[in-house]
Amino acid sequence: MKVGFVGLGHMGGAMAVNLKKAGHELTVYNRTRAKAERLGLKVANTPADAARDAEVVITMLADDDAVTEVVFGPSGLANTLRPGAIHLSMSTISVALSQQLAEEHSEHKQGYVAAPVFGRPQAAAEAKLFIVAAGEAGAVKKCEPLFAAMGQRTFPMGDVPVKANVVKLSGNFLIASVIETLGEALSLVRKYDVNPEKYVELLTSTLFAAPVYKTYADLIVKEQFEPAGFRLKLGLKDVRLAMAAAEAQAVPMPVASVIRDHALEGLANGMGDKDWSSLAQVVSNNAGLNGRS
Ligand code: NAP
Repeated sequence: MKVGFVGLGHMGGAMAVNLKKAGHELTVYNRTRAKAERLGLKVANTPADAARDAEVVITMLADDDAVTEVVFGPSGLANTLRPGAIHLSMSTISVALSQQLAEEHSEHKQGYVAAPVFGRPQAAAEAKLFIVAAGEAGAVKKCEPLFAAMGQRTFPMGDVPVKANVVKLSGNFLIASVIETLGEALSLVRKYDVNPEKYVELLTSTLFAAPVYKTYADLIVKEQFEPAGFRLKLGLKDVRLAMAAAEAQAVPMPVASVIRDHALEGLANGMGDKDWSSLAQVVSNNAGLNGRS
C-alpha cells in the first residue's frame, strides 16, 4: 500500500521501518529532516508532499499542537490528501482535536481513523504494539494490514473515532497512577530499610504480576530514567488530556490532579525530558529520600 508517514520520533521511526519491512511503499516526513534521512526511506519536504499520493497517511506526533500544524498548517496534509484516502491518526491526542479531525476530513470526503497505541519504543521496534482503533468500518478494514505490520493486536472500538482516544487517555492515566503509587509504596518500604529489589520481586511475582508493574518497578528501582522511552513532558500532556476529557463529561478524577502536580514538580526541577517513570523520584524526594526513588 502507498503510505505517507509523518512524525519519526521514538515511536514513529520504528513504526515506519516496520511498515517498510512488511512491503508497503513509504514516503515519510519529519520536522527535523535528519531523523527521516537516517532511516533510508523516501523523504518528503512537507507533510502535504508525504500525503499527496498516499492511500493512507499516518501521523505519529508529539501532541495536539504538532498534529494541528501538520494537518491544517500551510503545508499540512489536509491540503493534498485525496478524497477517499485515509488519515490514520496514531498519536495520543485530545478527544476534542480527534473530533475536529473527524469532522474536517469528512467535509473533504477524506477518511479518518483514530488508532492510538499502547507500548513503549521497544514494543514499537518489535512490532508488538497494542492498537486501539475506531472509525468508519471500511476505513478501519483498509488499515488492518498496516496494524498487522506495527502491532501484535488491534482492539476495534467501533465507528466513532474519539472512542479510541478516550480509551488511550484513560489507559495512560492508569499507567501514571501505577508509577505514582509505586513511588509512594517504595518510599514507604525504603524508609523501613526494606530491600527494594526483594520488595519488587515479591510484588511482581505474586499479586502484581502484570507487565505495567514489572516494567515500571524495574525502571524505578534501577533509577533508569535516561534515555527516556516516554518523556515526562509527554506523560504530563496525557494526564492533562484525560482531565480535559473528564471535565467535559463532569467526571471527577482527583488522582489525576495529584499526578499532574507531581509531574509539574518534576518539570520545574528539570526532569521533563527524563522518562515518566521518574515521577516516582518526585514522590521519593518529597519523602526526603533525595536521589533514591
Ligand atoms: P517524540 O520522540 O518526542 O517524537 C515526537 C515527534 O513529533 C517528532 O517526530 C517531532 O519532530 C514531532 N513534532 C513535535 N512537534 C512538532 C511540530 N510542532 N511540528 C511537526 N512535528 C512536530 O515522541 P514519541 O515518544 O515518538 O511519541 C509520539 C506520540 O506517541 C505521542 O503522542 C505520545 O504520547 C505517543 N506514545 C508514546 C509512547 C512512548 O512510550 N514513547 C507510547 C505510546 C504512545 P522532531 O523530530 O522535529 O522533534
